[in-house]
Amino acid sequence: MTQNNDKYRPPIVAVMGHIDHGKTTLLDKIRSANIAKKEAGGITQHISSYQPKITLKNGKSGLVTFIDTPGHAAFNNMRIRGAHVTDLVVLVVSAVDGVMTQTKECILEIQKSDLPVIVAMNKIDLTGASPEKIKGQLVESGLTPEEYGGQVPLVPVSAKTGEGIDKLLELILLHAEVMELKNEPDLPLEAFVVESKLDKSRGPVASVIVKKGTLKLGDIVYAQNIYCKVKALIDSNGDSLQIAVPSTPVEILGFENTPAVGCIITPVKQAIMTNIKPDVQPGFVPAAVARLPIVIKADVEGTLEALKNSFSDDIQIIYAGVGAVTDHDIFVASAAKAQIFAFNVPVARFIKNLADDQKVLIIESKIIYELIENIQAQVLKMLDPTIEETILGEGKIIAEFKIDKVRIAGVQITKGELTKGDLVHLRRDEKIIKDTKIEGIRQGKNIIDKIKSGSDCGMTFKPYVDFKLNDVIISYKK
Ligand code: GDP
Repeated sequence: MTQNNDKYRPPIVAVMGHIDHGKTTLLDKIRSANIAKKEAGGITQHISSYQPKITLKNGKSGLVTFIDTPGHAAFNNMRIRGAHVTDLVVLVVSAVDGVMTQTKECILEIQKSDLPVIVAMNKIDLTGASPEKIKGQLVESGLTPEEYGGQVPLVPVSAKTGEGIDKLLELILLHAEVMELKNEPDLPLEAFVVESKLDKSRGPVASVIVKKGTLKLGDIVYAQNIYCKVKALIDSNGDSLQIAVPSTPVEILGFENTPAVGCIITPVKQAIMTNIKPDVQPGFVPAAVARLPIVIKADVEGTLEALKNSFSDDIQIIYAGVGAVTDHDIFVASAAKAQIFAFNVPVARFIKNLADDQKVLIIESKIIYELIENIQAQVLKMLDPTIEETILGEGKIIAEFKIDKVRIAGVQITKGELTKGDLVHLRRDEKIIKDTKIEGIRQGKNIIDKIKSGSDCGMTFKPYVDFKLNDVIISYKK
């Protein structure tokens, strides 16, 4: 691993992208090309982070720490906590499919975090690859490639054939050099949890990346207030380590409990961050201030944590758990007059029927920020009386079109006037489920600014909304 006396530490690189665009294949390719021969046959399981030594064709070499965060939970969570384990993001975009929903979600995260980004335009070996079109989509999404006059380096690659990967790694090393990432092994420890699980035989296991300081076997550390005497440090090859210096990805054994993804590990107990709310059990009497009661279900612990930690004080979590929505969730929600927010978990038909029966709304989503925005929209609705809104117009979504994979709503204007840039509520079944803005309006081939009651038009929204037929668009001003 890194030497303690190096002036600079290796860059910590998060690899992100839409599902199936080739993140895993790319990481595996880099890993298999850059690990010692004796381990070459040994890559069987998914690992969340590893640190290969890269040797470029031009002879240059260096260590790079890669993190693969499924669902981006860790990334999102850390951003919410205002902390960063990541130095650089590689955004994988398929040269065939281009910018898709999760790509947009990643771009939003990258922009909010202000991290440098390199686009790896993958699958260029395929005949359907259309690099120029994809570059255009990136420009539209706010990531303008350098060759189009922007700031973002873009490397065409094939995770399958290996084409372009040397160039990508060269750029990563170059960025690292420019960033001059200080190696600070003597500072107090600061490490981040990128994945955590309860292992049947080993107990709680936290995959962490050390950012500052040195983690040693036998150390007493805390993930917020979860105690850990470090019993073992295991690197991504499965070898035991005595110490882990900055930028080292390592598994820690010895935690009393599984720490939350995104937690910072330090040598001292930390107060629970202010934005973390404890779960509130049914029967809890809410404070005098109105709060929106919700039940959240998510696919994995990491996502659940990210969700829980992103809510404002206006939200009261009645119950939060991992797994499919169950009848228990419906009854708890019904008793507390709460809505259920389901992230990436199945909702069976009979559960939907039960929910209808109990008048419980289940809002499903596969995109974290969309779900968070949905919840915030509900809060707005709850606070409605305190917010003076003037309704400017209304329309109903009566059709849906796709142009270049962009979903366009066919809207029939039923009241007033709707204007490009207007704030809008999206209403479904008498509930506002989302707030967004009108990005563009067109009639036939013409792009227009305004549309009045009685006319139909095509409309796009930003931020993206997963609209459905019969949803109502309400344009308003505060
Ligand atoms: P992830 O969901 O982003 O991790 O995507 P995967 O790495 O699982 O890749 C999804 C599919 O695309 C798999 O079938 C891969 O074999 C395939 N794939 C990934 N990269 C490439 C590439 O560069 N070229 C081709 N032809 N296929 C690729």
